[in-house]
Amino acid sequence: MDLIEKVRNKVRLGQEEGEALYDLDLYTLGELADSIRKEKYGKKSYFNINRHINPTNVCADICKFCAYSASRKNPNQYTMTHEQILDIVDNSVKLGAKEMHLVSAHNPKDGVEWYMGAFKKIKAKYPDLHVKAMTAAEIDFLTREYGISYDEVLDMMIENGVDSMPGGGAEIFDEGVREYLCKGKVTSAQWLDIHQRWHERGKESNATMLFGHIETRAHRIDHMLRLRDLQDKTGGLNAFIPLVYHRENNFLKIKDYLSGQEILKTYAISRILLDNIPHIKAYWVTASINLALIAQEFGCDDLDGTIEKESIQSAAGSEGAKGMSLDDFVALIKNAGFVPVERDSLYNELRVYS
Ligand code: SF4
Repeated sequence: MDLIEKVRNKVRLGQEEGEALYDLDLYTLGELADSIRKEKYGKKSYFNINRHINPTNVCADICKFCAYSASRKNPNQYTMTHEQILDIVDNSVKLGAKEMHLVSAHNPKDGVEWYMGAFKKIKAKYPDLHVKAMTAAEIDFLTREYGISYDEVLDMMIENGVDSMPGGGAEIFDEGVREYLCKGKVTSAQWLDIHQRWHERGKESNATMLFGHIETRAHRIDHMLRLRDLQDKTGGLNAFIPLVYHRENNFLKIKDYLSGQEILKTYAISRILLDNIPHIKAYWVTASINLALIAQEFGCDDLDGTIEKESIQSAAGSEGAKGMSLDDFVALIKNAGFVPVERDSLYNELRVYS
């Protein structure tokens, strides 16, 4: 059976076959990924109304690709008080947000209580609001800084109202690339272990992959396959989110951007390889809204959300920092020929804009 036949017959592919998918032309790959997407979701494209909050940019770690941390290229340090965080939440709830997505740098000055207290206060005020918070990298940082275990942090998160975990901190799992990119931060094995422990508590999470820097195609395939293995064990991953690397304001000094073609191929290949992860997300803040709209024809069924405001990718040169109005977002998806579906954070459908 050749590679295309294997994909059409839903034969699971391994590392070498995954790499060989990149050699197919873009349209063939798109057609293969699109047929899988159509079988699962038809023309539906999911999004949610969310607000990203990045409560601090003070960081003890030193990732080379980072433009956000105040200890790297960003001179403007900040750490929000709980009251400031709650003010943002209040405003976002008024605007219809149903999810608060909190991701912080690794701030050594504030203590576990600052992290957990914010979640507790949000949940006390808005019990129905979904709190997505704490990447595996943040969890690992707290254990290193305060001598507590992963299990203790995960249990604290649940006690304080965290509903699901975002997928950040995965970067690229290959140990050599990771050593260069973000030495000292959570290792690949630890990232996978933390998500496994979270899933074993009956909770769900997402998984990211930062691509377009020093990694090879083989590294991307390896990354996807490690996630597929985790998902075989736990079934707790909701979405895979390939994040396109932005090259501004950081120490990596990558000269070239990935081509749109390479980005679309990577989306399509993830749809084909990750047969057990339900959703593939084109995170428009890093991909650009236009490419994300096209990605709907290359296997992606989710465009994240209206965002409202985002600080991490925008520090690296992304133009999606200010978010987008709901009307514009819905109109763009419709104009691209898809059916916008507002979902909650766990992919229950809330409203179909047919
Ligand atoms: S990517 Fe995160 S952990 Fe790494 S330096 Fe930036 S803020 Fe810190």
